[in-house]
Amino acid sequence: MAALQDILQEFHRIAASPQELLKSYLGQGKKVVVCSPVYSPEEIIHSMGLLPFGTWGADMEIREAKAYFPAFICSIMQSILELGIKGAFQGVSAIVVPSLCDSLKCLGQNWKYAVPGIEFIPMTYPQNRNTDYGKEFTKAGYQRVIKDLERITGETFEDGKLHKSIEIYNAHNQAMREFSEYAGNYGAITAADRNAVFKSAYFMEKSEHTALVNQLVDALKATEPGKTKKLRVVTSGILADAKELLAILEDNSIQIVADDMAQESRQYRVDCPPAGTALDSLAGKFAAMGNCSVLYDVNKGRASYITELVQEKRAEGVIYVLTKFCDPEEFDYVIVKKACEEKNIPLLQIEVDRQMVNYEQVRTAVQTFSEMLG
Ligand code: SF4
Repeated sequence: MAALQDILQEFHRIAASPQELLKSYLGQGKKVVVCSPVYSPEEIIHSMGLLPFGTWGADMEIREAKAYFPAFICSIMQSILELGIKGAFQGVSAIVVPSLCDSLKCLGQNWKYAVPGIEFIPMTYPQNRNTDYGKEFTKAGYQRVIKDLERITGETFEDGKLHKSIEIYNAHNQAMREFSEYAGNYGAITAADRNAVFKSAYFMEKSEHTALVNQLVDALKATEPGKTKKLRVVTSGILADAKELLAILEDNSIQIVADDMAQESRQYRVDCPPAGTALDSLAGKFAAMGNCSVLYDVNKGRASYITELVQEKRAEGVIYVLTKFCDPEEFDYVIVKKACEEKNIPLLQIEVDRQMVNYEQVRTAVQTFSEMLG
């Protein structure tokens, strides 16, 4: 069995080199489709023999995209467009952008003019998703994606092949849930390690990522968790990807015992349920998803989901990583804060941005939080 540190190094290498990986996939003659946040239907792309390649933007200075977006829009969207304009996705067949927030809607429309060489495929999801008509609407959105993919790539869709891809993705969900469970209890798994495992999933074919994650979990099982004096927290938000932020968490002995991050566990909570066709099964998965700021929920169950997660994982607090100018997360923060106060759960909100270069305010806030609870 490969040593734990060697496997972790491999995750770090993959997470840090999306450009190199993309070049190598294209060099091997693979047809790649870029998948934008938050819930692109990767299973469909995978089933058509195409390689889904996720992007959540990058930490970078944004220049060109500013001609298309106002300054007060989330930097994830801005940096995805900036990467597109600068040729980072050159050679891919298309980009799929779901319509789950206003910024995402703008990204798709701007992409058509800013990056004319790569076709934009919209995935339109319904607000009311868990009804028969909601599922039909979702299915119609998938059919539109399929039609565009067939036209652009020349590949064809078959429900039987989607069924096989769904099995691969369900197995990946299971592996990621198991990793998250183990990682939370091993002090040796740092916030940066955890991020590398989740982030690398976007750049690899899913059965290959599952195999690597299973190797990691096996290596963890063979290791003593050891006693740790780290502060057990649950993170919540869209993404916690910046190297500086992850280092600050580690410097202040923060152990992420579970997360409610869009880029992390929210992707893996729900499997595709059995249904008449594979496409119905995929629509059934979207219908069953919840506890996410971009998924309409009149009862805002996300707040109690977080407080229950804290209790279940015996966490000592919550760190709410707010992406600057993310309206859905800003609205939810008020409700999450109230729910945490009612349960006497310490909550820290920190604001992050993909253009941030100075993290000293974040450092001070995390250090204070850690010292108060330590
Ligand atoms: S949900 Fe928030 S972070 Fe994600 S694209 Fe929309 S505004 Fe940006």
